[in-house]
Amino acid sequence: MPELPEVEVVRRGLAPHVAERIVRAARVRAPMLRWPVPADLDGRLAGQRCTGVQRRGKYLLFDFPAGVLIVHLGMTGTLRFLPDAPPPAVHDHVDVVFGHGTMRYRDPRRFGAVLWHDRGDGPVAAHPLLAKLGVEPFSDRFDGALMHAATRGRRVAIKQMLLAGSVVVGVGNIYASETLFRAGIRPSTPAGRIGRARYDALAAEIRATLAEAIERGGSTLRDFVGSDGASGYFQLDCFVYDRAGQPCRVCATPIRMRHDQQRSTFWCPRCQT
Ligand SMILES: [Zn+2]
Repeated sequence: MPELPEVEVVRRGLAPHVAERIVRAARVRAPMLRWPVPADLDGRLAGQRCTGVQRRGKYLLFDFPAGVLIVHLGMTGTLRFLPDAPPPAVHDHVDVVFGHGTMRYRDPRRFGAVLWHDRGDGPVAAHPLLAKLGVEPFSDRFDGALMHAATRGRRVAIKQMLLAGSVVVGVGNIYASETLFRAGIRPSTPAGRIGRARYDALAAEIRATLAEAIERGGSTLRDFVGSDGASGYFQLDCFVYDRAGQPCRVCATPIRMRHDQQRSTFWCPRCQT
């Protein structure tokens, strides 16, 4: 599943191709992804100039004078810019056609989303899918103080809290395991029992780990294709993720693994307390 770093890589890859460009047509071949795709997308986008591409969590936001095209890649979605688009294949659900190429959304499992938010409905930040998201990990608002304040009295395990995305977005399963290792915090620790200094360390590691992944082109264990068609597939050089039973890279203690809620959690019993 594309995580925040992959989505950010897609954003950076697409922006130079679509920003300040005028849409000629939008072609919707699948009426339904996770939610219905607007049937009138062509009428809304044709003739409109894309003024920029933003990202909020794992949502890509394409700005137009009349509104915002919201795209989520779901489990298997890809969004690529094709200067010479071939005829659409079976899973190519939406094309946004520009004069110099086509932005194509492909999604075999259809858990992604292509939505339209009209300018008249207010700021896109208030959209129901975006309004409750936690802060961006690279925003000035995100730091240890915020995490500490948000978790007082919370008994939920720190790893579950990270995955929920209600305090900070973008820390998926791989990044939760890795950042907790790097901060020395055991994943099962109740969020409310973690002190300010440890949250300062965790916030710094979240930023650093996500930034490393973005730098390296996004990390995922699934196939991932970057917006320019180049493969963005690479495996983060993990300390604990997917290393059950192998020696910790720091202390050589075997890495432990536990399954809960269909997720695997990895940690070093010695380095993480
Ligand atoms: Zn260790």
